[in-house]
Amino acid sequence: MSWIDQRDDLQSRARAFAPAARLVPIGWLRNSAIALRPFQFYPKSWTADQVLDRIPHECRHTQQQRELGLFWFLLLYLFSGARRARFEIEAEVAYWATLTGPDRDQRVGDSARALAMVLASWRYGWAVSASEAQRLCAEAAIAFIASSPTVPMRPSDRMGRS
Ligand SMILES: [Zn+2]
Repeated sequence: MSWIDQRDDLQSRARAFAPAARLVPIGWLRNSAIALRPFQFYPKSWTADQVLDRIPHECRHTQQQRELGLFWFLLLYLFSGARRARFEIEAEVAYWATLTGPDRDQRVGDSARALAMVLASWRYGWAVSASEAQRLCAEAAIAFIASSPTVPMRPSDRMGRS
């Protein structure tokens, strides 16, 4: 079911991250969302959960565009693969910060691996080489996990793992 029915609720959640955010459904978008401050375009076909998962990432782009100005953001984004990779990793870190639960670190790792794949693909204009994308994403995931303590495991979980 499309997220459009829950647009008001999703929009108010987005505004907790980026106060001006406006969520706009687009029919021809399929696998990705686009942020052009203050508008965030999401595929009409996405579910509310898909949009909710993506909101922190797109809101970080909205903030990046506000900080740099849209002109400089787009210039750097379009013409520097290294900067594009940095903008994307920074946006993904904003998503990681919303993850909770005992499998959080696992999900951060999965997300970092998935981002490394697409950063080195046509979808992000081959921003950086595959090995560079893996290095940057792994470093970001390790730094994030080290700097942000996860929810403590129950003693029973810990015993199961040792
Ligand atoms: Zn992005």
